[in-house]
Amino acid sequence: MSDSCCSTAGNQQKFTKTACPQCATEGKKVQRITLGALLKPDARKRMPPGEAFLFCSSINCPVVYFHEGKPLFGLDDLTVRVGQKVTEEPKPLCYCFGYTEKAIMEDVLKNQGKTNIPAEITTQVKSGNCFCEVTNPQGSCCLGNVNQAVKKGATLYQAKQKQTI
Ligand SMILES: [Zn+2]
Repeated sequence: MSDSCCSTAGNQQKFTKTACPQCATEGKKVQRITLGALLKPDARKRMPPGEAFLFCSSINCPVVYFHEGKPLFGLDDLTVRVGQKVTEEPKPLCYCFGYTEKAIMEDVLKNQGKTNIPAEITTQVKSGNCFCEVTNPQGSCCLGNVNQAVKKGATLYQAKQKQTI
C-alpha cells in the first residue's frame, strides 16, 4: 500500500512465518496497540507478550490475527466487524470516519461513477484526525480498501449504464 497515513516505520521486523497458518495469505504486521484497542476483554487477556502479531486480510479466512505461525484471534474476538473479511453488510472499511463498503459504492452510483470519499478521507488524514492504529483491525490506513470499493462501485455503475442503453 503506497498511501499510508499511519507510519509503522521503525517497527518492521523480519519474520520467517509470515503466512497465515489457515489460508496461507501473507500477513500484515500490526502493532500490539491495535490488538489491545480492538480485542474483547477476554481475548485481550490471552495476548502473548511482544509485538509479533500479523493480520490476515483474506475474506474467506476466519483468522484475524496470528502469532508465530499459529492462529491467535478470530472474528468473534474483536469488538468491531472486520469489513474486509466478512461477506455480509455492514462491511466497515474506513473505521476512523465510518464509511462502509455499501456507503462508498452507493456514493459512486449516485455520482455518475465518481466519489469524493477518498479525497475527504485524505483531507482528514492530513488534519491529523486519522487513528487507524487503534480503530482499524488491519492497524493501517484504510485507503487501499476504500479505493477497492470505489472500483467495485465504478464497475457496477458502468454495467448499469450499459443495461440502460
Ligand atoms: Zn488467513
